[in-house]
Amino acid sequence: MARLVMKFGGVSVADGQKLRHVGDLVRQFNRDNEIVLVTSALQGVTDSLLECARKSASEGKVSEVQDFIKKLTERHNQAISEAITDPKIAQEVREVVAVKISELEKAYIGICYLGELTTRSLDYISSYGEQLAAPILSGVLRDMGIPSRHFTGAEAGIITDSEYGDSHPLGKTYELIPQRLLPLKGVPVVTGFIAKDEKGTITTLGRGGSDLSASLIGAAIDADEIWFWKETPGVLTTDPKIVPDAKTIPSISYREAMELSYFGAKVLHPRAIEPAIKKGIPVRVKNTFDPEGPGTQIVQNGIKKKGVIKAVTVSKKVALLNISGAEMIGTPGVAAQVFTALAKAGVNIIMISQGSSEANISIVIEERHVDKAEAALRAELSKDLVKDISHNHNVSALAVVGAGMAGTPGVAARVFKAMGGAGINVVMISQGSSEHNISFVVSEKDAERAVLELHREFGLAEDSA
Ligand code: ASP
Ligand code: MG
Repeated sequence: MARLVMKFGGVSVADGQKLRHVGDLVRQFNRDNEIVLVTSALQGVTDSLLECARKSASEGKVSEVQDFIKKLTERHNQAISEAITDPKIAQEVREVVAVKISELEKAYIGICYLGELTTRSLDYISSYGEQLAAPILSGVLRDMGIPSRHFTGAEAGIITDSEYGDSHPLGKTYELIPQRLLPLKGVPVVTGFIAKDEKGTITTLGRGGSDLSASLIGAAIDADEIWFWKETPGVLTTDPKIVPDAKTIPSISYREAMELSYFGAKVLHPRAIEPAIKKGIPVRVKNTFDPEGPGTQIVQNGIKKKGVIKAVTVSKKVALLNISGAEMIGTPGVAAQVFTALAKAGVNIIMISQGSSEANISIVIEERHVDKAEAALRAELSKDLVKDISHNHNVSALAVVGAGMAGTPGVAARVFKAMGGAGINVVMISQGSSEHNISFVVSEKDAERAVLELHREFGLAEDSA
């Protein structure tokens, strides 16, 4: 009997049919395991809640709120009708949903009249997506004969600081969760994403925060594994839109998973798996279309692959900043000024490289930050020191990732030989001393070809492990 926390995202609970499918999956695994479910809002609901809040604040039209509320009610009621067969259970859930929706409507109307929207009220509003989803999913389970109760994040013991929009769980969460959920009675369904602060005000863990909720719960109740269900076959060797024969990676380390996310692969946000890492709890990415399949397991020490490299990622929405000037040579503090200026402007740095000539620093940042990054650098750096600041956004950053490359000579040679062989020019290179990834920049037009070449060079389509 294993204890599992299973998280389902918005796409997996998008409508009645999908909610029913989640119920089927739970029933299948409930026979041999203890399960806690964590659910997101129905697909797109969080976005629509936020959009309606912004409109209410700027335009203040109560009639538009009423239209929105009507659609939201219909959508959830339809999901209930599709997913729950027992009329008594369906009615109970409809009532819970109606109460929640009327609370939500009041908040919107308040916003219409006040014409202002604080981060605190945004958290309150956006919490309703999950608050509506959890009672329905719990009802689906009861409809299938599985005892179940629904919990909000706070009811399940998740307490955070008061940084609305991006709150951080407090240490005592780890003690509260087991008190609230254990011993497990049936299959509890907990809202992802939302919590409360110590004053009892609703907070959220940041967009996509349901993953973090699941990790927190898994870590706090000593789960044997935390499963993230997706509509894709686990973590892939690369983007299947570029390489159709991309394969599921059977096992990777926490570290490799983090490197992949940093470089744009949509695995799991590193912050989301932090609680699992702290407790060494294995995380698994499972495919809802292939529930028997093992998916990808993310553990402390992922099994090494013979080919050393496990995955290739590419991110196109990046830009390269170049800072150069002969006066930079031998002048201490230039890099510090550059990084401070970027940090103050809220620009996230993805890659850095400085040659030993010191006349040039290259930095890869997100494309959307280019203008403010350049402005910040121009404002901060003295013109005597830095002659030229320029950028190029027609670039892509590639990363080859695999813990096996640490201490293995020749990996970089293979990477760049493959690029040379394909006639692809490498603009910038960076490898951290952790040796878990080699990342480099190529022109955007060469990016997909580069991915194909690397995937082939390292035999990623061949059966691994
Ligand atoms: N529903 C929230 C969002 O859309 C949280 C989540 O899905 O993880 O960001
Ligand atoms: Mg680009």
